[in-house]
Amino acid sequence: MALIVQKYGGTSVGNIERIQNVAEKVIGWRERGHQIVVVVSAMSGETDRLIALAKAIASRPPPRELDVLLSTGEQVTIALLCIALEKHGCPARSYTGGQARILTDNAFNKARIQAIEADAMRADLDAGRVVVVAGFQGVDEDGNITTLGRGGSDTTGVALAAALKADECQIYTDVDGVYTTDPRVVPEARRLDRITFEEMLEMASAGSKVLQIRSVEFAGKHNVPLRVLSSFQDGPGTLITFEEALEAESMEKELISGIAFNRDEAKLTVLGVPDRPGIAFSILGPVSDANIEVDMIIQNIGRDGTTDFTFTVHRNDYERTLEILRQHAAQLGAREVSGDNRIAKLSLVGIGMRSHAGVASRMFEALAKEGINIRMISTSEIKISVVVDEKYLELGVRALHEAFELDKAA
Ligand code: ASP
Ligand code: MG
Repeated sequence: MALIVQKYGGTSVGNIERIQNVAEKVIGWRERGHQIVVVVSAMSGETDRLIALAKAIASRPPPRELDVLLSTGEQVTIALLCIALEKHGCPARSYTGGQARILTDNAFNKARIQAIEADAMRADLDAGRVVVVAGFQGVDEDGNITTLGRGGSDTTGVALAAALKADECQIYTDVDGVYTTDPRVVPEARRLDRITFEEMLEMASAGSKVLQIRSVEFAGKHNVPLRVLSSFQDGPGTLITFEEALEAESMEKELISGIAFNRDEAKLTVLGVPDRPGIAFSILGPVSDANIEVDMIIQNIGRDGTTDFTFTVHRNDYERTLEILRQHAAQLGAREVSGDNRIAKLSLVGIGMRSHAGVASRMFEALAKEGINIRMISTSEIKISVVVDEKYLELGVRALHEAFELDKAA
């Protein structure tokens, strides 16, 4: 017998028929002898609908009241799911975030979970009930309802799994696992049986959107094995696990696990700045003061005492960053400020590259063969990212998928 936490996203509970389908799946797991905790999202589109209602009244609704409003979406689904379970004779009990004692800080709209008092839920499980918990919400120490930020139900699932010491946290969604890359770009993309937490985090930060990044971090930190699987078709999904677990089972480690990409990038260059200590700080200081996140950074080797400095930001921050740089250009002694918001980032991710040389050159060769110019490069221990012109993104992803034979299992 195992204790399993299952999280079903908005599309999986998008209408009454689907909620009944979830109930049947849950009953199937219970009949195999497992204890089940279910976390549900709001029905798809519901959170957006509620936000639109509030914004129809005020462009910036009071955060506390917004959380009271948004938490109702999940409250609807926990009740409907329990009604469906009980109808089939399966004892079940619903819990709002507050009832589940999911205690958070008081940062409305983006609260963080601080503790979970799980005794009541444990008693229900021991009494043979399925426990159904509203995702995305909690309660602060004064009893105010809080929400965890968009996509926060994943985090609720993982946090509950950690608190209850569950054997596995299953995230049910509309795809049947984590793929080597987006199948809409590469039809030959393959579902991975396993991927490590480290790789999953790099994939997520580089643009893969299967899981909320915070939930992956949380699961990794608390040793909760995570599985991503489809609520519409049966299958093993993808297990997100620890490198040590792969080693213990002497599983073959793949050289490259996947290719992530991100179109929402822009790059800015400050040309001809004096090459002296402190220059990086004087360029990036005002950018970070404006709360703009910088991703890749390159500084060219200086000639004639000057240097060029290039970095990337999210495309939404492009205009604002350009403005900030132009305001400071004279003071920096820069010759020119330029930028390009038609770029994209492409990243190769795999723990195997730690122990294998030559991955980068194989990557650059594959891109060169397609005539794709690399504009920037950055690397970490298990990731190589390049910036290319946006128009080459899909070609680049396909070329790399082929060059590293990702359509074939290791
Ligand atoms: N319903 C919330 C949202 O749409 C939380 C979630 O689905 O994870 O962001
Ligand atoms: Mg979601």
